[in-house]
Amino acid sequence: MKKLFNKAQQLSLDYLESLNKRRVFPTPEAIQNLEQFKQALPEQGAAAEKVIEMLDEVGSPATVATAGGRYFGFVIGAALPASVAASWLAAAWDQNGATNILSPVSACLEQVCMSWLTDIFMLPKGTQGGLVSGASMANFTALAAARHAVLAKQGWDVESKGLFGAPPITVVISAEAHATVLKALSLLGLGRERVIQVPVDNQGRLRADALPELNSSTIVCIQAGNVNTGSFDPAEKICAAARKGEAWVHVDGAFGLWAAAAPKRAYLYSGVPEADSWATDAHKWLNVPYDSGIVLCRNPEHLKAAMSITAAYLTQGVQGEPYHYVPQLSRRSRGIEIWAALKSLGKKGLSDMIERNCRQAFLFSSGLQKAGLNILNDVVLNQVLVSCGDAETTQQIISAIQQEGTCWCGGTVWQGQPAIRISVSSWATTDTDVERSLAAIVRIAKNHK
Ligand SMILES: *Cc1c(COP(=O)(O)O)cnc(C)c1O
Repeated sequence: MKKLFNKAQQLSLDYLESLNKRRVFPTPEAIQNLEQFKQALPEQGAAAEKVIEMLDEVGSPATVATAGGRYFGFVIGAALPASVAASWLAAAWDQNGATNILSPVSACLEQVCMSWLTDIFMLPKGTQGGLVSGASMANFTALAAARHAVLAKQGWDVESKGLFGAPPITVVISAEAHATVLKALSLLGLGRERVIQVPVDNQGRLRADALPELNSSTIVCIQAGNVNTGSFDPAEKICAAARKGEAWVHVDGAFGLWAAAAPKRAYLYSGVPEADSWATDAHKWLNVPYDSGIVLCRNPEHLKAAMSITAAYLTQGVQGEPYHYVPQLSRRSRGIEIWAALKSLGKKGLSDMIERNCRQAFLFSSGLQKAGLNILNDVVLNQVLVSCGDAETTQQIISAIQQEGTCWCGGTVWQGQPAIRISVSSWATTDTDVERSLAAIVRIAKNHK
């Protein structure tokens, strides 16, 4: 085993060290080489070392260098060294994160994380939650708690009776709600189209003045961190209106919730802790390995009720069990990596990482602007939208950036205008990475004219 694991460790290190020199997106040849994997399942097994060798030889070159410092597509964090090392150890431990009795260490670290996270996000005392696969699942889980709470108030037990014959629920979202919120609503039987859509302003923020009347059968979904602009919905105003009507407010803060750690972003974050539930990702801006999402709930009883299962053999734990708060029973122990990331950063390290990425986003926007390109958003966080003209030109420039390989950015359409979207979310991004990428983007955009 020692030889095998040493080999895997060496190959991992070689890989990570190669990231600074290699292209971000793999070459067509590397992708072509993946054909080698497409064999029939062999009758006889191979030696474990050979298996790892093949993964490295064929697989590594066809990876996207999202673990490095020059990947700016979607919103993708890398993985902090402490969290990667913790993940190796956790893989060896192979703990099932479902219950205390299955893994005391997993349950303990998860509880420590919940308390640290409640502190970082400035959430009310008593907030509890669980670790899920990502913000998609965190949105789903939180909205299941919301569905429970809203219907329980009207005397309806949705977990037992379902939605057939249930009192109606009003769901309010913004025109800019993330696609995964709509997916969660569809999975929960609340319907993608059965919603009131509130218009947004030019930064994609929900217009509080356009909110419908909110009452106790309303669930309002707001956003902390628009996936295009990074903007925050005005949580303070929305939460105040919701409190008055006893509506439930859910915050999709997949990456934006981490702004709480950065004092200079406090003005964005104000009001967010007034909500009832929150969803965020650890695999984005906290920079832990995939997959890792977090759901948090002001009143964890609603979450527990929504996630309840009945099986006598499971009810051994006296206190809160991890599986009480999430859809899954068996699962990997995500708390180990989240704990390692937070422990290695400390409050100061976390705050520095978030601020650094925000500052680097600003370096991008000012550099691109100086080069004559048009920035479409107010750069308030880590997202930058760059206009290069019509859809065809923009797509050609994006493809050229991706093919050139210095960095990787994707495209989007922002309020009718095609744009390059730059997201700075990696601990590994240095100012040199930004300068190199900036130079590549400017060169490619200029050459295009
Ligand atoms: C990324 C993202 C999601 C979905 O998160 P996953 O981790 O991909 O499931 C939801 N909402 C927002 C705002 C996001 O940025």
